[in-house]
Amino acid sequence: MRKNIVAGNWKMNTTLNEGVGLAKDVNEALKNVTPKCDVVICVPFTHLAPVCGVIDQQKLGLGAENCADHKSGAYTGEVSAPMVASTGATYVILGHSERRQYYGETAETLKEKVRLALDNNLTPIFCIGEVLEQRENGSYLDVVKGQIEEALFDLSAEDFSKLILAYEPVWAIGTGKTATDDQAQEMHAFIRSVIANKYGNEVADNMSILYGGSCKPSNAKALFAKPDVDGGLIGGASLDAESFMGIVTAF
Ligand code: PEP
Repeated sequence: MRKNIVAGNWKMNTTLNEGVGLAKDVNEALKNVTPKCDVVICVPFTHLAPVCGVIDQQKLGLGAENCADHKSGAYTGEVSAPMVASTGATYVILGHSERRQYYGETAETLKEKVRLALDNNLTPIFCIGEVLEQRENGSYLDVVKGQIEEALFDLSAEDFSKLILAYEPVWAIGTGKTATDDQAQEMHAFIRSVIANKYGNEVADNMSILYGGSCKPSNAKALFAKPDVDGGLIGGASLDAESFMGIVTAF
């Protein structure tokens, strides 16, 4: 069944003490509410095991922000999917636009990462989205379709169904410029139709498609009210427990 999900992406923020404190705050806040969505925090690698020790994963899921495109071996500085899974985390963000833009991630490397994540029982939160120029020249639907096809359409329907997708227009990430709820709905409905054409209506209907890009308590309600928007991937606003909870409770 399609789930509503709000996931935080802490990016390269917080020291270990700060991160554990933030995780505790979110965990504590969740004791007082029954959210109408799953709640997840994706944290730096260094924070995974300690954060796992202070949260109730029945109420607050834990994920990494990336994993390597190899299982193990001579890849100095990389962190593999089995390593992430061994911390107790169960999600991993893959294909974030910052990884694509600054670290040269391609559809080919992402295919490997998705495979390894799934092999290790991690749920990929797979990011797609166009840059401003593509939004302005009208190619944005084709761009996002291509990102999905190239990295994910080798998967079986069973494996594809294990993914969460996050539509994140790059021009809206960290800029304060949010896509309108209608722009988000147009893209999310389009993504669902692309999935339906490949894997059928059932897989498409059950897929959770999150919106990401300057989502905050003040705009989350309108975005989440759209029929094809199943929650959010939250950057900046996930670094403060109160604002993150303001988004969680927007459902
Ligand atoms: C993100 O980086 O995934 C994101 C959505 O960031 P922000 O909410 O800060 O725009």
